[in-house]
Amino acid sequence: MYIVSACLLGVCCRYDGKSSYDGRLIELAAHGKAVPVCPEQLGGCTTPREPCEIIGGDGADVLDGKCRIVSKNGEDMTERFIKGAEETLKLAKVYGAEKAVLKARSPSCGFGGIYDGTFTGKVTAGNGVTAELLIRNGIEVFSDESAEVVLKQADEADL
Ligand code: SF4
Repeated sequence: MYIVSACLLGVCCRYDGKSSYDGRLIELAAHGKAVPVCPEQLGGCTTPREPCEIIGGDGADVLDGKCRIVSKNGEDMTERFIKGAEETLKLAKVYGAEKAVLKARSPSCGFGGIYDGTFTGKVTAGNGVTAELLIRNGIEVFSDESAEVVLKQADEADL
């Protein structure tokens, strides 16, 4: 079972009220292998919402209390993002998900790279808060940019 960022499956849960639909990942859902989650909605963020970025660190630093997540208009969103990560982990455990496919660069879902906190579209190394919490709990995380790898693996495991 895979946790999948809901926006990738066509759910309009992004900050701008749109989705990031990726038709390749529908294959997982069609075979009952995808649990769609939007950590930011699960954490109590509205949709649409102001874009948010991690300031001065990454998801690991947020979980360790070393930095904050702030919206573009200056609101501290840290607690909501941490709650969203925790609720996502709860669902991963309920469904026995061992892997996750998450949307690249998001302060929640990003894996390997996230927006750098300047709201300029620049990317820095690091994971989003949810990606980091899932990794810390033994779940293998992939970026949607590796969707082909995920689908190949799933296919070989008899999707
Ligand atoms: Fe998509 Fe994750 Fe952002 Fe929700 S938090 S809109 S699932 S990238």
